[in-house]
Amino acid sequence: MKAAFRKGLVAPAAVAFATLAVWAVAGPLWALGCLGAGAAAVVGFHLLHLQRVTDWATGSLDADVPAGRGSWAVPFAAIHRRVRLRKKYQQELKQVIERFRRAAEAIPDGVVLLDARHHIQWANARAQALLGLAMPIDRGRPIVNLVRQPEFVRYVDEGEYAEPVLVEQSREPRLLSLQIVPFGVDETMLLARDVTQLEALARMRRDFIANVSHELKTPLTVVSGFIETLQDLDFEPRQRARYLGLMQDQARNMQRLVDDLLTLSALESEHDPPNDAEFAVVPLLLELSADAKALSHGEHEVALEIGEAAVVVGNRDELRSAFGNLVSNAIRYTPPGGTVTIGWSVDDDGRGRFAVTDTGIGIAPEHIPRLTERFYRVDRSRSRATGGTGLGLAIVKHVLLRHQAELEIASEPGRGSTFRVVIPARRVRRAPSTPPDAGDAALQRGEGGAPRPDARAPTSSAVPRGTGS
Ligand code: ADP
Repeated sequence: MKAAFRKGLVAPAAVAFATLAVWAVAGPLWALGCLGAGAAAVVGFHLLHLQRVTDWATGSLDADVPAGRGSWAVPFAAIHRRVRLRKKYQQELKQVIERFRRAAEAIPDGVVLLDARHHIQWANARAQALLGLAMPIDRGRPIVNLVRQPEFVRYVDEGEYAEPVLVEQSREPRLLSLQIVPFGVDETMLLARDVTQLEALARMRRDFIANVSHELKTPLTVVSGFIETLQDLDFEPRQRARYLGLMQDQARNMQRLVDDLLTLSALESEHDPPNDAEFAVVPLLLELSADAKALSHGEHEVALEIGEAAVVVGNRDELRSAFGNLVSNAIRYTPPGGTVTIGWSVDDDGRGRFAVTDTGIGIAPEHIPRLTERFYRVDRSRSRATGGTGLGLAIVKHVLLRHQAELEIASEPGRGSTFRVVIPARRVRRAPSTPPDAGDAALQRGEGGAPRPDARAPTSSAVPRGTGS
């Protein structure tokens, strides 16, 4: 017999026995009274528990299960066990849902849950930021009322979701990739990703390939034209030598371009910091000054101004190539008779400053922020005529980035330019005493006696790191 049933019979049986006992002792009248009182007590006990269970079942959801006695102890204990178990499941379920919600919040892309009619159910913080949604205010609103770009509305209407749709946002401005992903029975999820950078990279790659092809096309056309001419016609030796010389110039241009491209690609692909080593600045400045004179063929005055000898921590070859590019530009963009000054000093705060100042053609302010972009030239024909590839300052920018150094450009059209490299203090060690090479350099200080034109260069702009090419 079941426990509850058994326990339920105990009280009526006790009343029955008591009634019989009273009958035997005191007679039927007293027995009837005893039976009535016993029955009332049993019924009252059950009614009381019935009321308790009714109160609990209709009361608040988290109310405790009431305690039961006698035959009610068993069902109440069973209900209590079930409620505890259900609460545990609910708790676990809540934790799982909370974990999923946190995971969805942590996704770097925007996620919006939509119902069958594409009304918003939920959106993570990234989606709210990207699409301008405000939760919970926008819950239940159609997504096309909030993302109104015609291409997205059409995408939602057509129901063809295999590919994402690209949507331009004018507020930021930025380019978003939006894709609807069906899941469950007829729910969908909208994934939003900011692809502005990716698109800019793709465009840069396309532009770069177009630029390289264009740069190679001109010299190749010239060379192949000369080859055909030399094949078809018989030239006297002097004429022939002239043509071969011109072909050689074009071949050198291509060689320079390929060399610069390889340098740039090596710099771009190396994410590791440069192979740092300590090197003295003054000998490097002397080498640069000698290079400048060789490039100038005596057509310019080359001055060297050394404020303080120092040791720099960095990759000497990379920095020599960057500084060399600035020196070569100064010579190439300064008409004969001008002055190029190569300078070095150490700031009070320990930062090193390498500067090349020229009295050349200068640069209009609107060009300055773009000079370090690959193939950006102010005057294409002048650059080409002087053997420029349009990659020099892009190489400079990359070398400086790798040394956490910055490039500052000050220039005035028709009067000259100053390209200044600022090297962080932790890469510069002041020389304890004047070394012999600094003494030699000091002899060269002010060589040519030309004044520094940067003092009067009014247009100044720091080239932002990580932009441009
Ligand atoms: P390029 O090989 O054409 O010289 P760079 O990247 O070295 O390429 O320089 C980019 C452009 O910046 C040049 O084409 C030129 O227009 C301008 N430029 C660079 N240095 C100077 C300078 N010292 N004076 C005037 N213009 C300069």
